[in-house]
Amino acid sequence: MPTSLHDLTFDELRERIVRDGLRPAHSARLWNALHLRADTDLLARTDFLPPLRRWLEANLGTEFHLDVLPIATQTPSGDGLTRKYLLKLQDGQEIETVVMGYPGRHTTCVSTQAGCAMGCVFCATGQMGFVRHLRPGEIVAQVLHAQRVLRQHGGRLRNLVLMGMGEPLHNYDNVMKALGMISDTRGANIGPSKISISTVGVVPGILRMAEEGSHYNLAVSLHGSTEAERAALIPANQRWPLSELIAACHTYGEKTGRKIFFAWTLIAGVNDTPEHAQRLAALLSGIRAHVNLIPLNETAGYEGRESIETTGEVFHRIIQDAGIPCTIRQRRGIDVAAGCGQLKAERRKRGEKSTL
Ligand code: SF4
Repeated sequence: MPTSLHDLTFDELRERIVRDGLRPAHSARLWNALHLRADTDLLARTDFLPPLRRWLEANLGTEFHLDVLPIATQTPSGDGLTRKYLLKLQDGQEIETVVMGYPGRHTTCVSTQAGCAMGCVFCATGQMGFVRHLRPGEIVAQVLHAQRVLRQHGGRLRNLVLMGMGEPLHNYDNVMKALGMISDTRGANIGPSKISISTVGVVPGILRMAEEGSHYNLAVSLHGSTEAERAALIPANQRWPLSELIAACHTYGEKTGRKIFFAWTLIAGVNDTPEHAQRLAALLSGIRAHVNLIPLNETAGYEGRESIETTGEVFHRIIQDAGIPCTIRQRRGIDVAAGCGQLKAERRKRGEKSTL
């Protein structure tokens, strides 16, 4: 099986090119074509010098290939601000990438796994189970896809969230390698402070980020403020209990000095009362936190319903009155099932064959 050129970091690419007898300048030019210009057909280029061209002709298709992910389907939202792409991997698996428009900026939400092992009850991806981890190149390829799309409309990708299919910290090494390439100033150049990693609470991953002094934003999905309440929504709580998760968040904050974003999906009658809000505020005491309240994106596989607006506002006020910054997240793309937890559910609902 050929190796993806998108799996190689700048240094790895240079090492390989130099080992094959070419000058390092050729690897910089190739990296530029892959990661800055987001080329999809290297042999179509006419500006490569002969040694690089010969190297590509000799190696593409045999030893190396590119991660260019064909679009299986694409769906724009009614407001035209969000577009959901179902992208096909080489082995036939399908993943979702969402490009979201906000005033003056664009954000892309990428997948890190095909399926997910975490099984959160309200999440369409979780209801499908785990298939496999994505390689670094498959994560990078989603960002390059978004850049090509935005370029056609004169836009530029500024923010990245790892909030699509999969649990990023369950695929730690591949995710971190991909993010290193995505934030490389010689390539896509999305700064670490513009990248958010969303986790359901994989404690070893959070501690590793703390140890490594990660500069990426960390978003932790809580949704429950007692062990039992959280475990009912997030089965992974049995493996990494809330008490251990909160302790890991304290460690992360102490070691990195960074704020942590806590996501709380508001589900009517399940976790949206004033008592829930008070318990959440107490739980986060001593952590530099920002709470994001997310109205539930309803899916066919979960009977929970979205909280009514006034309930969310009361919850919001209680958190803010406790001195914790809190926002109710703007939702994007709900009408095309591109909201968090809705990915792929729509195809299943329509009875289309799922490869997951
Ligand atoms: S919410 Fe995230 S971690 Fe939970 S099942 Fe869905 S994709 Fe996996």
